Amino acid sequence: MHEMSIAMAVVSQVEEAAAAAGAHTVSAVRLQVGELAGVVPDALAFCFELACADTVLEGAALTAEAVPARARCTSCTGEWAVGMPPDLCCPACGGATGTELVSGRELRILDVTWDDDGPQDAAVPAPAHTRQPISEER
Ligand SMILES: [Zn+2]
Repeated sequence: MHEMSIAMAVVSQVEEAAAAAGAHTVSAVRLQVGELAGVVPDALAFCFELACADTVLEGAALTAEAVPARARCTSCTGEWAVGMPPDLCCPACGGATGTELVSGRELRILDVTWDDDGPQDAAVPAPAHTRQPISEER
């Protein structure tokens, strides 16, 4: 399953970054997911939960930010929302050659929130830090 391998890759990258920083608990992970990345958000959320079991990410909240797909026409420099299913013909000049994808294939970890000290059940929550350990997944 596509989403399962993505979820496992995300979990292992976050685990590595958290271990390097000495974090005990990862509470939230924010992903940027392009419209054309071929990811079903519900499936990803489900797989993420499974992939997090027995790791420092157990119970972490996953936020997937959708990135709308946009294309640019190289002949008239027009830009448009590609939509789903993708429309790669330029709405301004009708050209379908020289179309380049500006956005929509993103699949990256935006940021991770973790607690790196203090017991989890303390009255005052441990300070949460937001960092950006990984800029690009592929
Ligand atoms: Zn055009």
